[in-house]
Amino acid sequence: MTSPIQDYLERLHRELAGITDGQVATYIPELAKADPAGFGIAIATVDGRVYEVGSTHMPFTIQSISKPLVYGVALEDRGVDHVRRTVGVEPSGDAFNSISLEPETGRPMNPMINAGAIATSSLVAGATREQRLARVLAAMSAYAGRALGIDEAVFESERATGHRNRAIGHMLRNYDIVTEDPEEALDLYFRQCSVLIDCRDLALMAATLANGGTNPVTGASAVRSEFVGPILSVMATCGVYDFTGEWVYRVGLPAKSGVGGGIMAVLPGQLGIAVYSPALDERGNSVRGVKACETISRDLGLHFLQPPRASVSTVRASYTLAELRSKRRRSAAENSLLAEHGAAARVFELQGDLRFATIEPVLHAIVDDPRPLQFAVLDFKRVSHVDGAATRMLAALIGRCAGRGQHVVLTRVRRGELLAALDTEIDPRNARALSFQPQLDLGLEWCERALLAQHGGTHASSAIDRLADHRLCEGAAPEDVAFLETLVSRVQSEPGALLVRRGDPADAIYFLMRGEVSVVVDLPGGGQKRLSTLSAGMSFGEMALLAGGQRSASARADTPVDCCTLDREAFARLETERPALALRLLRNLLQGTLQTAVQLTGEVAALEG
Ligand code: GLU
Repeated sequence: MTSPIQDYLERLHRELAGITDGQVATYIPELAKADPAGFGIAIATVDGRVYEVGSTHMPFTIQSISKPLVYGVALEDRGVDHVRRTVGVEPSGDAFNSISLEPETGRPMNPMINAGAIATSSLVAGATREQRLARVLAAMSAYAGRALGIDEAVFESERATGHRNRAIGHMLRNYDIVTEDPEEALDLYFRQCSVLIDCRDLALMAATLANGGTNPVTGASAVRSEFVGPILSVMATCGVYDFTGEWVYRVGLPAKSGVGGGIMAVLPGQLGIAVYSPALDERGNSVRGVKACETISRDLGLHFLQPPRASVSTVRASYTLAELRSKRRRSAAENSLLAEHGAAARVFELQGDLRFATIEPVLHAIVDDPRPLQFAVLDFKRVSHVDGAATRMLAALIGRCAGRGQHVVLTRVRRGELLAALDTEIDPRNARALSFQPQLDLGLEWCERALLAQHGGTHASSAIDRLADHRLCEGAAPEDVAFLETLVSRVQSEPGALLVRRGDPADAIYFLMRGEVSVVVDLPGGGQKRLSTLSAGMSFGEMALLAGGQRSASARADTPVDCCTLDREAFARLETERPALALRLLRNLLQGTLQTAVQLTGEVAALEG
C-alpha cells in the first residue's frame, strides 16, 4: 500500500510538471546543458524516512545551496565572533552577485550573497587547498549521508567565466576581509558550488538541519547543533535571493536555493523538503521549486510562524497523596492521617519534552496551588528531553522551594541523560529542598513518611510478640488464639529471601510478626515491581485459605522477618473444630481486603480524573 504522503507528492508532481516557465541558467556555460524537464521532489523526516517522486536521482550542482553549509563549517572552524567580524547577517536586498559591502569596513552584508560566501570560504580551516576542499566535501557528505564529489566541467566552466566573483574576491582582499590570497578562497568557492548532488541528497541535507545537525539516516554529525540556529537564521532572512521577504510570507520555512535548480527548505525539528527543477525565474530561483514549496507548506501546514499548539499536555496525571498512596500498606491510624494531610503533597507525572513552554504550566501549578504544597513530586518516567531553559527553571523552582520550607522530589530521572546539568544549576545551599527517588512509588513513600513524622504519626510497630496482637486475630477468644498457636509454624527469613514464590502452590497463609515484606512481581525486562510492602501485624498469602491454586506474586523479606504460617489442612481443622475462630479470621481478612479495594477504586478515579 502506498503512503498517503507518497500519493500526495505524486499528485503535486503531476500538477506542477505542467509549468514550463523559466530558463535554465546560462551565465556559466556548462549549466546551460541542464534539461529543463528534470523535476524531482523529496521530503525527508527527522526520523530518516524519505518520500520522493520524479527525477530525485538526477545529479546537479549544489551551487548557492553550499553557502549555508560552508557557513556552518566556518563557524565550527573559527568560532562565532571571528565569523561575525568577517560577514554580517543583514539581508542585503541586492542581487546575489552584487558587489555590496558595508561602506566603512568592506564587510559583506550576509553569507548568502556571493561576497559573503566568498569571505566565508576564506575562513575554512586547512593548510592547503586540498585540505580545505576535503574539509568542505566531508561536511557536505555528512549532510547528504554519502560521499559527494565535484562536477569538474561545471567547476572549470565557472572558474573560466567567473570574472565578477573574482572581482568580488579581490575587493574583499582590498578591505582585508579576506586576509590571504583571494584566489584560494575563490577556488574553494567555485569548487563548493560544483559539488554534485541529487534531490534526495538535498532533502537529507535539509532534514539534517531540521534534526539539529545530525543526519537522520546515518546518525553522523554534519555540524555541531549549536550552529544550526545561526545557519537557519541566515537562510530564513537571506536564503532565496531578493525574494526572501515574499518567501517567508508565503512559504515560511528557512530555505536556500541555487542556480543549479535545487532548493531546500527546513522545518526545524520535523522535516526537510528538496525540489530539483532547473528552469529559473528572473531572480534565480527554480520556478517549480518555489511553487512546490509554497504548495507543500500550505497543504501540510508547515509555516514556521504558524506553529501548531502542543497537542499533548506535559502533565499526564496529577494527584495528591490524599488520593493516591504508595504501595506501603499502613495502619488505619496512619491512613487517616494521610487522608487528612495528603493534599500537601502533589504528584505531577510528566511526559514529552520539557522546555520553557511545556514546563511553564507545571511551574504555574506548583507555585500557584491555592493550598501551598509542601511536597511536589515530579515523575520523569515519560520525559524524553529537558532543555537548558527548563533545567534552569527547575533549579530556580528548587531554590524558591528551599526558601519556603517546601520540597521537590524527582522520581525516575535518567540522570546524566536527562538532567545532567541540574546539579551545576542548583545553589548547594538549596540542595536540601531536593531529593531523587529511583521509583515513583518510593517518592510517594518518602513524602508519606515525612508527612506522618510531621503530624505525629506513630511508627508501625516493627514487631509483635504474640498472635493475639496480630490484626487477623482481633476480637478472637483468648482460648481460640491459644489453640491457633498450636497449629502455626514459625518461619524466620533473612533480608532478600523469598518467603513465597510466584507459581508455587498456595498452601499456607503468613502472619507477619516482625520485619517488613514486599509483595513483588518480576518485570519482563528484568527487575521487580513491588505491589505492596507489609509490616508486622499484616498478613499475606491469604489465597491459600480460600482458593488454593498457585501463588500470583512473590513475597520478599526486606528486613529480618518472623512469620507464623497456617497451612490449608490446619485451617480446615479450625473450620470444623473452632468455627468461631475460623469465621473471625476470615472476617478480619475481608475487612483488610475491602479497605484495599476502596483505596484502589479511589486511586483509579484519581488517575482517570
Ligand atoms: N556559482 C554561482 C555563482 O556564484 C552560485 C550562484 C547561485 O547558485 O546563486 O555565481
